[in-house]
Parts: sequence; structure tokens; C-alpha cells
Amino acid sequence: MPAAVEGALGLSPSAFYPRRLASNARGELLKSLIAMCKLVPGQPAPVLVFDLDGTLLDNRPRVAQIFRELADTWRDRHPREAQALAAVASDDIVYGIKENLARLGVVDPTLVDEACGFWKDRFFTDEYLRYDTETPGARPFVRACYDAGATVVYLTGRDLPNMALGTFASLRDLGFPIGVVGTSLVTKPAFDIPDADFKHEVAPSLVRHGNVVATFDNEPANCNLFLKHLPAARCVFLDTHHAPDPPALDPRAVVLDSFAPHG
Ligand SMILES: [Mg+2]
Repeated sequence: MPAAVEGALGLSPSAFYPRRLASNARGELLKSLIAMCKLVPGQPAPVLVFDLDGTLLDNRPRVAQIFRELADTWRDRHPREAQALAAVASDDIVYGIKENLARLGVVDPTLVDEACGFWKDRFFTDEYLRYDTETPGARPFVRACYDAGATVVYLTGRDLPNMALGTFASLRDLGFPIGVVGTSLVTKPAFDIPDADFKHEVAPSLVRHGNVVATFDNEPANCNLFLKHLPAARCVFLDTHHAPDPPALDPRAVVLDSFAPHG
């Protein structure tokens, strides 16, 4: 989305906008990455490491669904807030639950607390992962890499106890390669581990899968740590949404806003 359009919609223009590849260059990069996925007999498998939320998957529809359910429970008690929550579209969702509530006019501290609890009880669970959609172009790109010979590792900050089974089903239902030879779903062992700490711990062991040729993530901090641990691998930063106050992105990272080969 052009920065001017983001501004008109009331969204903050991405700080990384100037580094995004234009569509032609994006298509060429994606093609070159697929070409790196050729499996050569007798050599370690080429490995691609993909984050999920904000990278391959768009979780904003999950948030919008939860807001609609909250609206149903608030319809009688808080009709004004319920109406705003019910009308929210996925494209209106920004990073951060409190930021979204404030944009919708939910500002009373008691209501904010109730809404945050309602959201947390659902957002981090298997059952709600079915509402996620793919980032434009993600499924065909991952499929092309897999078909070319790559081992595909999904490395996510979702946790094993509450989200692994729903993630597996979501990837299957969206058509990503999963549950077949040459794929892995790697999750956090426990909910409370910070995502960056988890990825920092895991990154050095990714070579167990083969030769890591590229990593993909929507958090600058994670991209930076991949480049630290796996300097020979290309690092792709997905400029979708990310945690506030990100660190400077390593200049070696390449910036995309989707996986679409054109447009
Ligand atoms: Mg992410």
C-alpha cells in the first residue's frame, strides 16, 4: 500500500516503505529464491524458514472475528461500542489490541480490560486460527519452493500446547505444504517465552534441516537475529505489521510487502 494511501486511511506509513522492492524487482527476487531450492542428490537440502503471523499468514481476520463475537456479548450493555466492534473490517485492524480498541472508541478502562481478556482467551487458541488468510502470493510461492526441492520450516512464536494443532490444520486448509516429507512446524514450547528469545535459541539449530538458504519474518528484530546466526542465508523482511519501536533493520535484509509475483 502506498504511504500516501496509508496516511489517508489514518494508518502510520511504514518506516520501511522506502526499502520495499518495487513489483518487478519483487518478482525477480521471488524467482531467484525458487531457483535456489533445487535439491541436488548427495548435497544438504536447501531449507527455507518462514514465520507465520504477519509473514505467510494474515491474522487480522482472526481479530475481526473476535471483535464481532465481543460485539454480540456487548450489544445490550454497551450498544455504541458493540456497533463499532461489529462493523470492523480486517483491513482496519492495526498492530496491538489496545490500539485497535482505542480506534474503535472503546476507551473506558473497565471495558478495555474486559475486551483484552476476551481477545486473549480466543486469539491464542487452536479454534480461532481457521480465520487466518494467506498473505497475497504466499501459498503459491511456498508451494513452488517446495516443489522445486526445498525443505520448508514454519518457525512460529505460536505455542505448542494451545496453537500447534490449529496451525497444522490452518496450513493444510489454506493449501500450504504440511504433514509431508520435507516440511516441519516448529512452535514455542510454552506461551510465556518471548518470541524473539525463542527464535534466538532455535536459529542455530535450523541447520539440522539442511542448508538454510533464506528466512522470512515480519519482525525486524527476528530478521536481525537470523542474519547474525545464519549470515549466508538471504533474509526477507515482510513489511506488513510489526511490534512498535522496532530496532533498525539490518541493511542486508531485503524488504517485501507481499509474495505476489506482479502488481
Ligand atoms: Mg510474525
